[in-house]
Amino acid sequence: MAAAVVASALSSGCAPAAERPGAAAAQGSVAPASGDASAPATREERPSDLSCAPGTRDLGIHRGFVGGGAVRVRLCAVPGLPSTSPESAPGGAYHVAGAAGAAIVNATVSHGVLGLVQAARRRGLALAATSSFRTMEHQRALCAANRVCRHGDFTYVAAPGFSNHQLGIAIDFAGTAVEGRSACGRGRAVDPRSRTWRFLEHHARHFGLRQYAAESWHWDASDEAGHC
Ligand SMILES: [Zn+2]
Repeated sequence: MAAAVVASALSSGCAPAAERPGAAAAQGSVAPASGDASAPATREERPSDLSCAPGTRDLGIHRGFVGGGAVRVRLCAVPGLPSTSPESAPGGAYHVAGAAGAAIVNATVSHGVLGLVQAARRRGLALAATSSFRTMEHQRALCAANRVCRHGDFTYVAAPGFSNHQLGIAIDFAGTAVEGRSACGRGRAVDPRSRTWRFLEHHARHFGLRQYAAESWHWDASDEAGHC
């Protein structure tokens, strides 16, 4: 399953694998790090083979990043999941054409994310996002604006090229904002007072998403350490 293959090549959530450079490349899932978005990806990631889940909107092929290297990704807008990110907002600085205010995800996770949104809705909960797919230009700006990221601490802002947001497999949900440690178990960010967090805690895993331990809001399709 493509999503699992993609996820297995990844580093942590908002923060990442700067400490594990080359980990993804070693698994053969990354296009050359030349920044050439037309470079071929592996069969599992070939975006032309992927389709957006019915009910989501195909935004076409875009340039994503994993493990510091550029990959081509098919992006899908999830209409039932509004996002305030500048990629999604019409007129936003990093707008992806066609997003129309909806969260943007990799086709590999579009089924799961749509399923999660629908499951929430059945329970009377309207999920919303503050970030989903993120462009390189945006990730660079976030890091440049963050003192600790600038100085090489990527716990809360990933090094450009290493955020799972840049592969479109991460979502930051609105309605929960607890920080914790970047390891599962004691110290993990939990937010039992948030209905959104409680829902995600009980249901996200079923749809292929797990929490990045340091951030109650960040959920993605990575199974690496620090995802719970
Ligand atoms: Zn995030």
